[in-house]
Amino acid sequence: MSKKALVTGVNGQDGCYLAKSLLEKGYKVFGGQRRNTTLKHWRLDEMGITDNIEFVDLDLIDQKSIRNAIEKTEPDEVYNLAAQFIGSLSSEKPKLAMLVDGLGVLRLLESIRQINPKIKFFQASTSDLFGRAKEVVQTESTPFNPLSPYAAAKLYAHHTTINYRDAYNMFACCGILFNHESPMRGERYVTRKITKGIALWLRERKPIVLGNLEVEKDWGHAEDFVEGMQLALNADQPQEYILATGKTNTIRQFVDKTLTYLSIPAYWKGDDCCDKRNDKLIVTTDKAYRRPAEADQLVGDSTKAKTELGWDRKYDIDGLIADMVEADLRRYSKS
Ligand code: NDP
Repeated sequence: MSKKALVTGVNGQDGCYLAKSLLEKGYKVFGGQRRNTTLKHWRLDEMGITDNIEFVDLDLIDQKSIRNAIEKTEPDEVYNLAAQFIGSLSSEKPKLAMLVDGLGVLRLLESIRQINPKIKFFQASTSDLFGRAKEVVQTESTPFNPLSPYAAAKLYAHHTTINYRDAYNMFACCGILFNHESPMRGERYVTRKITKGIALWLRERKPIVLGNLEVEKDWGHAEDFVEGMQLALNADQPQEYILATGKTNTIRQFVDKTLTYLSIPAYWKGDDCCDKRNDKLIVTTDKAYRRPAEADQLVGDSTKAKTELGWDRKYDIDGLIADMVEADLRRYSKS
C-alpha cells in the first residue's frame, strides 16, 4: 500500500515542490489548505499536479480543522510547511506570527499525539532562528538569537517539536532551512522581484526598486530542499538538520548574475544599475524597502545533512537564477 503524506501549506513554494516529489515517489498526497486560501492553486496548476492532490481544510489557527484533517487523512507523515512570514517588529500583524508559526505547531503536534503518535512529523524551521548570529558559519549547535516575531515564533515551534519528540517518543524532526528560492517563490521576495522585474523590464523598461543591495544570502533551490526534508523524515532517528548551500551572494550580485544570464550589458553608478547601451535605468533603490532589523550574514554548514542523510544539491546559484529567469520570461516577457 502506498504511503500517505499530509502537507500543510501545499499551495506555497515548498508545498508544490514537495507534493510533486512525493507523488513521483508513489505517495498519496493530501494538501492542507485554509478555507479562504489567498492564492489558490496557481503553483500546483503550473506544475500540472493539482488533480493528483486531495485537498483538506486545515488552518493552523483552528485546532478543530487540524484534528479533522489528521483523522480524515490518516497520514504516515506530516510535513508542516504552512507559515505566515512576518518580516520585522514594525511590520503588520506580529501577533499572527505567534498564532500561526508558533502555536500552530503546538496544535499540530498535540493532535498527532492524541490521534496517532506514530505519525512522523517534519517542521520547517528557519535560518532566521540564528538572527544576530553567534558564529560566522552556522551549524546545528550554533546558539539561536532571533530578531523578529516570525523568528521568535519559529523558535518556539522548533523547541516544541523537540519537546514532543523527547516527552512522547514521537518521530518529530526539524530542518533548519536557509533561504531557498525557485520560479514558484512569492513575488514579494527579492529574488522573484529581480527575475520577474527584469523579465518585465525587457518589455516595459520600468526600473526595479530594491532595498539594501549589500545584504548577503545563502540562496538554494526549493527543489533540492524538499528532498532534504524527506530524507530527514526517513532517517533512522529524528534529528535537526541544516539545509543550506554554504555560499552567499549579495543582492547586487544576484542582479548582476541575472543580467549576465540574459546578456544585458550593464554598469553600476552607486546603487543604480543602468543599461550600457543606452544608459536606461534597470535597478534603483529606496530606503522604504530596507528592513529595520536585518539578520546578520547567515551562511549554513550542511555537513551533517550531507554525511548522515546523503543530501546533495542539483542547483548552484547560476542554475537557480537560470531556472527562475526562464520561468519569468515565459510568464511575462511576451506582450
Ligand atoms: P510560502 O509563503 O510560499 O507558503 C506558506 C504557505 O502557508 C502558504 O501556502 C499559505 O497558504 C500557508 N499558510 C499561511 N497561514 C496559514 C494558516 N494559518 N494555516 C494553514 N496554512 C497557512 O512559504 P515557503 O513555501 O517558501 O516556505 C515553507 C516553509 O519553510 C515555511 O514554514 C517557511 O517559514 C519555511 N522556510 C522557508 C524559507 C524559504 O526561503 N522559502 C526559509 C526558511 C524557512 P495560503 O496560500 O492560504 O496563503
